[in-house]
Parts: sequence; structure tokens; C-alpha cells
Amino acid sequence: MSSERGSKHLSFIETASPNPWSTYLAQVDRVTPYLKNRARWVETLKHPKRALIVDVPIEMDDGSVRHFEGYRVQHNLSRGPGKGGIRFHPQVTLDETKALAAWMTIKTAAMDLPFGGAKGGVCVDPFTLSQNELEKLTRRYTSEISLIIGPTKDIPAPDVNTSAQVMAWIMDTYSMQVGFTASGVVTGKPIHLGGSLGRVKATGRGVFVTGREAASRIGLKIEGAKVSIQGLGNVGSAAAELFAANGAKVVAVQDQWGTLIDEHGLDIQTLLAQPQGIRGVKGALANDGAFWDTPCDILILAALESQMTPERARKTKAKLVLEGANGPTLPDADDVLADRNILVVPDVICNAGGVTVSYFEWVQDFSSYFWSEEEINARLDKLMVDALRKIWTCAENNKISLRTATYVIACERILAAREERGLYP
Ligand code: GLU
Repeated sequence: MSSERGSKHLSFIETASPNPWSTYLAQVDRVTPYLKNRARWVETLKHPKRALIVDVPIEMDDGSVRHFEGYRVQHNLSRGPGKGGIRFHPQVTLDETKALAAWMTIKTAAMDLPFGGAKGGVCVDPFTLSQNELEKLTRRYTSEISLIIGPTKDIPAPDVNTSAQVMAWIMDTYSMQVGFTASGVVTGKPIHLGGSLGRVKATGRGVFVTGREAASRIGLKIEGAKVSIQGLGNVGSAAAELFAANGAKVVAVQDQWGTLIDEHGLDIQTLLAQPQGIRGVKGALANDGAFWDTPCDILILAALESQMTPERARKTKAKLVLEGANGPTLPDADDVLADRNILVVPDVICNAGGVTVSYFEWVQDFSSYFWSEEEINARLDKLMVDALRKIWTCAENNKISLRTATYVIACERILAAREERGLYP
């Protein structure tokens, strides 16, 4: 399974108390002055279109019955069907799911993909479940949200702790309900069920592509650059491999069990082969501070929300921050990073590689014609470079951060669609 790793023991990388929905609202407030006439519609972005709360009861292996709370939020559907992953994590809440759905709206629009934004989640620690219990949980949750998902309505995908196998169960459950095989209901599926080559590593690849472009613009060479990575799940590990393969030195990594530091560069292949992650490696530190203090050129945030606090923003030695996770930087920390002249490539473009290849998967499923991995990676690279160039120009012209520039471009597209469709009735 290629899911993000997780654990009962959330000693590090817990989402801090700030509410991700408040972070998102603050980001919308920051962009509003740049929206000109479209600002009339900006309230649209502050209200999710639809949010479903579901009870997910399952019979456990020991015969007991447990109930889990699940959500599917469709934040905005102005530009197309909802799109966004499903997360299984003990810290999932409705407000977190609303924020993650909203960030999908911005992300799909920033990449100009014909989708709106959605997100789902179940408040559960999947590492405490057997495979049988996990399958039951996935199928019952799918059945509960099947009212609002579908290949032309809302298309889930993997997120934290959900894998290609989980997507296969979702696809099968939905298909059994509608009476035909509906491959296009989810993306991130196994290859022989209509999945796309390149999807598993697409988010990490997008982090690398946007990082490479941003680095070249600030005169930072990837070869020899020192990279620190928080989070070694699906996103962090694929990004680590690509940076290392291109000559960077990964000097610090942190997961929920600890921190590993080696200023000469860690052996990424050996580390990723550890079934237990950092906890299986000798020399792992229990010291969170050491991760943020380690000198590096590039910092990749690939864990959870709210990790970059103002205090950590004052500490980091990085020149470039790449947001592989969704919502990792608090608005106040954004200000500290800007004051310190540290460039941030924001989540809504930096980690958009995953949803971009999800879009390719959806197109391939509809046309029943599948592309080679080379073609997928080349198209991904081009779409991300083109999107980042537009954002860069907007940021330079308006003297704003890359985050605000990404929101300017995305909100213009979303609110133009909103305005042209008009209000019903
Ligand atoms: N969960 C991923 C994200 O946050 C991918 C979503 C998708 O492919 O729909 O972007």
C-alpha cells in the first residue's frame, strides 16, 4: 500500500490547535483586495456548497460494534464536478474537511482543471483496524456518501492514510450500488482497475517540479542543495527520491516518530526501505527542535496542516519552502517568512501534481485509452511549469506573495464561472 504512514503515537506532527478553516478564511481575506469587480462574489468562497456528515457503524473482528464519524464536503462546483481526496485520521473534523475541500477548489482552478473542490474523511486511526475492518469501514462510508459522489458529480481520491486498495473498495462499492462498473468514480485506483501510471508519485513529483522552477528563479541550484523534509508518507518520500536523484542532499527528515539528521546527506533509498519509517533507524532523535534548527536550503512540508508556526518560521534556515501538505503554514507564519525573504511555493500549486494526474486518470477512464508513464510525466511537468509561470508573473506585477498570486488567478476563474452562471432561481 502506498498510503501516508500514520500511528497511534502522534508524538510529532500533530495538527496544532489553529482551525484550518480559519486559516483558509484568512487567506481569502488577503486576496479580496485584488479581485476587483469579482470581489462582489467572494462570499461564495466562504461557504461550502454542501456538507454531508455520516455515521459509519462497523462490526469489529471481536464482535463489538463501533461507530465512526465521516464527512464529504463539496466546497464549490462552479467549474465542474467536485474533486478531492479522502482522509482516514484520528484528527479529522468537519472544519478540517471544509478547509481541505476549499483548498481543492483553489487548487483545481489554479491548475485550470475542469473541477470544483471537495474532500472527505473519517475520524479513525486506521492503524488500529484489521484489513477486514478497514474494508468494512471504507465500504460503509462509501455507501453513505454515494448519495453525492459519482463520475460526473464528485470524484474522491487518496489522501492521508488512504491507498489504491481503499480506492478499489470505493469503486467496487459504488459500482455494486449503481449496477455497472464505474471506473471514473474515484482516481488513484490500482492500474488494472483503470488507474493511471504515475499517479502514486505524482504529488511528490509536482513538489519537485515546482521546487526546481522556483529554485532556478532565485538562483538556487538543486545539485548540492540541502533539503529538509517533514513527513515521509506518499508525498514526502516521492519528493525525497526526486531531489536526491537530482543531486540534492536530504539532510533532515521528520515523521511522527522522530527526526533523523545527517549534514552529509541521508541515504534515502535505505531509509524508505525501512518498514517502520524513521523509528526503525538507529540514531533517530526524539528532539523536534533539531529538525527546525538544521541548516538547509529547501524545506519541504509534507505532513499535516498548521506545522509552520511563527516560531518555526523565525527558526528555519531555508531559503525556499515547498508545501507538499495542504495548509501547513499559518497566516502569521507566512508573514514572518515573507519578512525574512524566504520564498514559499504554496500548497495550492506545489502539491497540485496529485490532482493533475487524477485528472489525467479521469480523462483516460472516460476515453478508455491509457497513456504511457513518460507521456503522463511530461504532461504533468508542462502543466505545472506553465501554471507556476503565470503565478510568478502575477506575483511580480502586483508585488504579492506566490500564495496570494495563486489565489488571485484561481479566484478569478472560480468567480467568473460563478458570475457567468448566475444565481438560481
Ligand atoms: N488528496 C490529494 C490532494 O490533496 C489529491 C486529490 C485528488 O487527486 O483528487 O490534492
